[in-house]
Parts: sequence; structure tokens; C-alpha cells
Amino acid sequence: MPDDPESWRKEASCRDIDDPDVFFSPHGSDQARAAALCADCPVRAQCLTYALDTDTQDGFWGGKTEAQRARMPRVRQVKHCKSRLHSLESDADYIYFSNGERRCKACHLATLERLKAARTA
Ligand code: SF4
Ligand SMILES: [Zn+2]
Repeated sequence: MPDDPESWRKEASCRDIDDPDVFFSPHGSDQARAAALCADCPVRAQCLTYALDTDTQDGFWGGKTEAQRARMPRVRQVKHCKSRLHSLESDADYIYFSNGERRCKACHLATLERLKAARTA
């Protein structure tokens, strides 16, 4: 069975608190309580990553308010081909074969160039 990507929730400090509304409250005292819970939370990093990845707007996540998260720089995850030389960002970066397979277009073209060079050498 694949790992549950949200298994970190089981270790969350806020898991069983009786007043989860503090994470969504506009009041300073509630926000201070939420921030204190997050500060000691063992899965703060996972919680923050989850909120950023899912573009979750409301509430405290990973110790950050919505406004704080909005100011955080997003590191876009760029996928690379097997050679790690080329980024694969859109369909145009692939070459498609009739059997449904697709490969990195830049690697494929480089292979064709190598074969051509070997033949004419
Ligand atoms: S970081 Fe805060 S909001 Fe996130 S799981 Fe921990 S206590 Fe809950
Ligand atoms: Zn490639």
C-alpha cells in the first residue's frame, strides 16, 4: 500500500485540541495560542508544505497565517528527464511514440545526432 501523504496529521499538535477555531480566528489572543501550538508541533514543516502545495487559504498552517504564507516565495518543482540535463515543463518538451511511450525530446534529438555522427564518421 502506498504511504499516506497526509500521515503527518496523526502527529499534529492541534489534532485533539478542543478549540480548533483558534486557527481561524482574527483575534490576537487566539492567534498567539495557535502560533504557540505550531511552534512545538513536530510536523510543522509538513503542515506548511501541505498548505503551500494545496494553495490552502484559510487559517494557520505550519505556524504561518494566510498573509504570511502569501508572502513566502514559491519554489516551483520542475521535473527533469532521466539524464537530469533537461527540464520537462510542458507536453512540448516530450516526444511521443506510436506505442504511447513518451521521452525527453532533447535527449531523443541528442541521441539521433550521436547516431548520425557515428554513421558519417
Ligand atoms: S503546525 Fe500548527 S496547524 Fe500545522 S499541524 Fe502543527 S499545530 Fe497543527
Ligand atoms: Zn533529457
